[in-house]
Amino acid sequence: MTSRSLFLLPGDGIGPEAMDEVRKVISFMNEKEAAGFSIDEGLVGGCAYDAHGQSISDADMEKAMAADAVLFGAVGGPKWDDVPYEVRPEAGLLRCRKDMELFANLRPAICYPALANSSSLKQDVIEGLDILIVRELTGGVYFGEPKEIIDLGNGQKRGIDTQVYDTYEIERISAVAFELARTRRNEVCSMEKRNVMKSGVLWNEVVTATHKARFSDVKLSHMLADAGGMQLVRWPKQFDVIVTDNLFGDMLSDIAAMLTGSLGMLPSASLGAPDAKTGKRKALYEPVHGSAPDIAGQGIANPIAMIASFAMCLRYSFNMVAEADRLEAAIAAVLDQGLRTGDIMSDGCKQISTAEMGDAILAAYAG
Ligand code: NAD
Repeated sequence: MTSRSLFLLPGDGIGPEAMDEVRKVISFMNEKEAAGFSIDEGLVGGCAYDAHGQSISDADMEKAMAADAVLFGAVGGPKWDDVPYEVRPEAGLLRCRKDMELFANLRPAICYPALANSSSLKQDVIEGLDILIVRELTGGVYFGEPKEIIDLGNGQKRGIDTQVYDTYEIERISAVAFELARTRRNEVCSMEKRNVMKSGVLWNEVVTATHKARFSDVKLSHMLADAGGMQLVRWPKQFDVIVTDNLFGDMLSDIAAMLTGSLGMLPSASLGAPDAKTGKRKALYEPVHGSAPDIAGQGIANPIAMIASFAMCLRYSFNMVAEADRLEAAIAAVLDQGLRTGDIMSDGCKQISTAEMGDAILAAYAG
């Protein structure tokens, strides 16, 4: 039987509650579809700090590195606001991204028909929306050196961040975007600020060269990132895949995601380079939302972002495209039935708990 290893890091707050609903889907797939998932589980974030004074232990980090895919819940909460900076809950997530070299962050923005009228944009602007933002995650201004505040000695200080990209970093992220576009509508729009930034000039050159050399079958366009933000709220359906750097991607993916409604609906994937021997990419899948301490422990969190993250895992780590499609269709079907958790509740719908939402999605998946 196929063996597919998953390492679960539920984390803090609503992370474990949402992960329980994914566990139900995995068990079903193992029992009824011989999916062959093997599951191991570790601690990350505040719960890891409580257990062993680190935001993720070396032993759990090793397991994350060895697994075919990591499913990550959420970390953080007021309980850990005062722990030392190096072991704060978020450091566990950052370590996973760094050690696993997860340079490509995938954030889909999909508008479920049943939720089209709950967006802040007009229904016809977002109905049927299905775009994917591919954000560079390990380079650029968040990591570039020098990064410091220096005292100028005249009563003034200077804050410095450095936007820096090397050719290989732009090549590999654009290759991910082109490859993904081939599985979708085959269009990539690259966004940078080549009009005012040297890193933008290089970004544009390298994306263009990568396209010409390896992906000329994909339609490529370029847009300045500020214009891209505007176009995303004006007519987002013009895009298929958007590829952009770490800083612009941070903002553009938040804009794109919010087109479609609640934080509780938004999945994400972070991918590394393909392994030279196996061709497999290291991968971590997580909802965009945090640990939601305000509702943790009440059984009312929306598990859809976590379940949709697992659907991305099926698609990108295991090439289980049919199962991923079915799971995403199950989410849409449950929303069509008018079932809602509190965060997406609207008139005429029925409010249900986290576990009931998980059960309903599994029932729709099982058919
Ligand atoms: P949050 O995403 O946890 O919550 C923001 C709001 O959205 C809250 O009102 C919350 O109840 C609601 N919400 C979020 N997810 C929901 C869901 N699945 N179902 C229903 N409602 C949902 O962001 P925050 O409040 O700014 O941060 C809370 C904690 O989470 C902080 O400690 C923060 O550092 C951490 N955080 C972690 C991650 C991560 O683990 N990747 C991401 C963001 C924030």
